[in-house]
Amino acid sequence: MRVYNFSAGPAMLPTPVMERAQQEFCNYRGTGCGIMELTHRGKHFEEVIDRAEKNVRKLMGISDNYAVLFLQGGASMQFSMVPMNIMLPGGFAEYADTGTWSSKAIKEAKNFGTVKVIASSKDIKYTKIPDIRHWKPSKDASYLHITSNNTIYGTQYHSFPDVEVPLVSDMSSDIMSKVIDVNKFGLIYAGAQKNLGPSGVTLVIIRKDLLKRTPETVPTMLRYSTHADEQSMFNTPPTFSVYMLALVTDWLLEIGGLSVMEEINNSKSEALYETIDSSNGFYKNPNDPASRSKMNVVFRLPSEELEDKFVKEATAEGMIGLKGHRSAGGIRASIYNAMPLAGVERLIDFMQEFQKING
Ligand SMILES: *Cc1c(COP(=O)(O)O)cnc(C)c1O
Repeated sequence: MRVYNFSAGPAMLPTPVMERAQQEFCNYRGTGCGIMELTHRGKHFEEVIDRAEKNVRKLMGISDNYAVLFLQGGASMQFSMVPMNIMLPGGFAEYADTGTWSSKAIKEAKNFGTVKVIASSKDIKYTKIPDIRHWKPSKDASYLHITSNNTIYGTQYHSFPDVEVPLVSDMSSDIMSKVIDVNKFGLIYAGAQKNLGPSGVTLVIIRKDLLKRTPETVPTMLRYSTHADEQSMFNTPPTFSVYMLALVTDWLLEIGGLSVMEEINNSKSEALYETIDSSNGFYKNPNDPASRSKMNVVFRLPSEELEDKFVKEATAEGMIGLKGHRSAGGIRASIYNAMPLAGVERLIDFMQEFQKING
């Protein structure tokens, strides 16, 4: 039996995708072996990686001005690769600090140039996205970096700043959860394990003019252009992860694409926040309502004892992964694309029942 997995990542994958992978696991399309056992230079894997790229382009409406890359090293590697490749010589970059992952990105960027923190919500415990209308972005920055969804604190940008410099976003935890205009961005990156597939592959979408910025001294494997020139096959790609990403994006196309996905995600998050807000203070979300995440819904109960009890009893009822991040505490329900509305409804029923007994 499959449980409802509310884990922040690696996270649950759509059941039809898992079943498809299972059917093909030992014998991929009559080859007599699994896709992960086949050479990446053969026609079977080439079809898979081509399809993955085509699906990503189609779902997100990505033009030929952008390269779509499948890299390794996770989103964390991008914290270094971004400044290493697109920080201009002697230049500076601007960053918004909206949580743990932004802070880590800032720390790495400092190794490659000057970092200016243009906006921060650190002093209010990362409970909101600083109002983008008050930002004063510089025209001379190499780029501006944001974290579109803050996985740990449960906040999310619901609109993006308009800037003249390339806008870079870590979209690891909300990529393909809604319709966005890719043309607003110079570079988008996302580790796959929240919304796109298993861990092991990182999606990078980069505007092609930025490929030319990389200084000579950057190692071959760490240059975006290396991977753009070779369709992400400069060396052996993480073949199984790319295959799973192809299946997940097939599934997204089948259900009707990102506008349909967005509607489902809106229904899920609205229902959950409504339950929290109408609980007479038993459940509390600490964040500014305008910055609430539709992917990671965080809340507190009246005591840590009750939070432990909540997690334990939910687990016994087939809802796992609800414990909040160790740095934030409380409860976190991660409701990425693969979490069906039925899973959220189950959680809501459980929350109401739990409050009745313990409230
Ligand atoms: C999970 C996460 C990361 C880290 O991803 P890795 O692939 O483990 O390096 C970075 N940024 C955000 C927003 C995340 O949610």
